[in-house]
Amino acid sequence: MIYLDYSATTPVDPEVAKHLAKVASSIYANPNSMHRLGEEARKAIEQATNHIKDILHIVNHQIVYTSGATEANNLAIFGYCHQHQSHGKHIIVSPYEHSSTIACFSTLELQGFEVDMLGVKPDGLIDLDELKSLLREDTIFVSIAKVNSETGITQDLHAIREVIKPYPWIALHSDMTQAIGKIEPDFHDVDLASFSAHKFYGLKGIGALMIRDGITIQPQIVGGKSLTNLRSGTPATPLILSLSYALERAYLHEEKKRARVHSLHDLLITELQKMPHVVIHSTANSIPHIVNVSFVGNDAKWVQTKLNDHDIFVSTQSACSSQTSMSVLIYRMTGSEDLAKSAIRISISHLTTEMEIHHFVKILKEVLL
Ligand code: PMP
Repeated sequence: MIYLDYSATTPVDPEVAKHLAKVASSIYANPNSMHRLGEEARKAIEQATNHIKDILHIVNHQIVYTSGATEANNLAIFGYCHQHQSHGKHIIVSPYEHSSTIACFSTLELQGFEVDMLGVKPDGLIDLDELKSLLREDTIFVSIAKVNSETGITQDLHAIREVIKPYPWIALHSDMTQAIGKIEPDFHDVDLASFSAHKFYGLKGIGALMIRDGITIQPQIVGGKSLTNLRSGTPATPLILSLSYALERAYLHEEKKRARVHSLHDLLITELQKMPHVVIHSTANSIPHIVNVSFVGNDAKWVQTKLNDHDIFVSTQSACSSQTSMSVLIYRMTGSEDLAKSAIRISISHLTTEMEIHHFVKILKEVLL
């Protein structure tokens, strides 16, 4: 079995699973209960939160725990746009957003908001002049994912923040789900940022939204004060503690892991480039963990199925949007339906081996038309 779909989700780190089992059975009281056990759970969450802030160098943001990045994106987008709509209803989004943010903007459009999507450039970076030209007095929200899940393309959030600085009422939101655990995050420049533990060997069902101090949003799940009024419900103490531990482990030996992924990425690219009719869509601005590639003339779903038959697992587009017949993003980037229909995403990890890459390429050569 060769798993090359780490950007869809990662296997749980066995140490994180052990940690979860331990805290789930020992720290079980409701952190909102006003007795000693409740207070112990509350303290454990507080410690985990401070640990996350230390690891991610967060000083000016609070952390709101959610069920994952989808909920965090929903909370950021609906929460801010509904709260501040009296100022304006204009929103700007990048073309590199995940379906969990795009769906929120489609809903807001139905509610009378106006959404402008930025164009794409060959290098995948946001055109800062275009962003500047779209900003208006009634713009209230700009959403730009740090790392695109299909191509791995990363954005310069500092440069983007500089462009929107003259409009201090605008919130800059960044979906950091594909960034956290893999690269150094840059929270200083964003007001709202989302992430999810299952992308860095943690559990599914837990994520977070970072909210800069002073930014106000409307809660989306109400039901009384929990850890915060912004998200009601009994806090998932074991999951929160396991998120903190998974994050610690994800950034452990970070340099070594990154160097390993770089070297595996270079091997994969070298091998792919030897093959005919290959177009690589990931750019120099992509993280090495994601390689998006078209095998021209080969339908992506067909390639995925054939590889699946050989126990090799890749994605077409991102796992959350793979029900559509072609990659909308690759179509926007290339203007070619053929390339968009044949694009697959190979996502690797420090756990990937050279042997797996060689075997994958061997099978790919047998499978392709
Ligand atoms: N944003 C991005 C960029 C993602 O890759 C994903 C997961 N595919 C999500 C959001 C949704 O995350 P979750 O599964 O935690 O809801």
